[in-house]
Amino acid sequence: MKDRYKTKQINVGGVLVGGDAPISTQSMTYSKTADVVSTVEQINRLHFAGCDIVRVAVPDYEDANALKAIKEQISLPLVADIHFNYRLALIAAESVDCIRINPGNIGEKSRIKEIVKACTDRNIPIRIGVNAGSLEKEFENRYGQSAKGMVESALYNIKLLEDEGFTDIKVSMKASDVERTVDAYRTLRPLVDYPFHLGVTEAGTLHHATIKSAIGLGSLLLDGIGDTMRVSITGELEREIEVARDILKDSGRSKEGLNIISCPTCGRIEADLVKAVSEVEERTKHIKAPLNVSVMGCAVNAIGEAKHADVAIAYGSGNGLIMVGGEVVAKLDEDNLVDRFVEEVEKAAK
Ligand code: SF4
Repeated sequence: MKDRYKTKQINVGGVLVGGDAPISTQSMTYSKTADVVSTVEQINRLHFAGCDIVRVAVPDYEDANALKAIKEQISLPLVADIHFNYRLALIAAESVDCIRINPGNIGEKSRIKEIVKACTDRNIPIRIGVNAGSLEKEFENRYGQSAKGMVESALYNIKLLEDEGFTDIKVSMKASDVERTVDAYRTLRPLVDYPFHLGVTEAGTLHHATIKSAIGLGSLLLDGIGDTMRVSITGELEREIEVARDILKDSGRSKEGLNIISCPTCGRIEADLVKAVSEVEERTKHIKAPLNVSVMGCAVNAIGEAKHADVAIAYGSGNGLIMVGGEVVAKLDEDNLVDRFVEEVEKAAK
């Protein structure tokens, strides 16, 4: 596997991003931010799901003024997402752990200076969040909504902050299609050393968003690109974190949790493998140890897979084998296999 790019490390409310820090996962609430009760409830759900950093939209003063109360009731790092209005950024900077803003949208230099001063005073970073759908007019006119346009916009926004002596930066460049997104990140990566926040934006419902994000974010992660990421899903918050964590695990960038190998089943099977694997997934969700386990429908490939698995089941006809470290430890009736398997996985995880 390729080494990760060596990026500058920043600190988002205690979560390190970049350098050798683990790749963190992010999500965003969908309540009106000024609705403090709902926003805190959603943030706590995300926290419970394993999210590392949460972002909230701040389109108006009511939202900006709610940030302090929200921050007091949560323990996840909080990012305020702001467009155009620098005064909202100044209010937000008093409470949050990072501001997402594109300085090119802010207008006069004096306003950018004020935001930089507020973030410097509180020692909080700025995320430059380029989005293909809202490029500055000059870049859109010159390059369209292309990867090139996104990269030029990112470089322009980075320079605006660097000109003010501010380098506590992370960068995202999101498009709704995978190819442009990947192109943009790959092009910018050798040009700057700031950490990258990855994402394919507006990726759709769970099924499509999972596929787009797995291809896009997965490709970049395999290239060694990416320091923090969000999987964008039209759906429930927890799904974003589950998919993000699985992409990290299956791209080899996170060693946390079980790698479950299961066969697709075929005409040889004599057990309900779909039910068994679903039960195994559900009952082992809490395990963080990096174990390989396999749940196979018959002896044809089960023995080979079991040799590389920490714990395995090989189903037979009405019964099956439990194997640990490649050795058979029990032959049990089908009804008892999952219980014993989970028991062995929990033991191996200790
Ligand atoms: Fe079929 Fe057995 Fe292979 Fe599963 S392990 S796909 S049941 S041959």
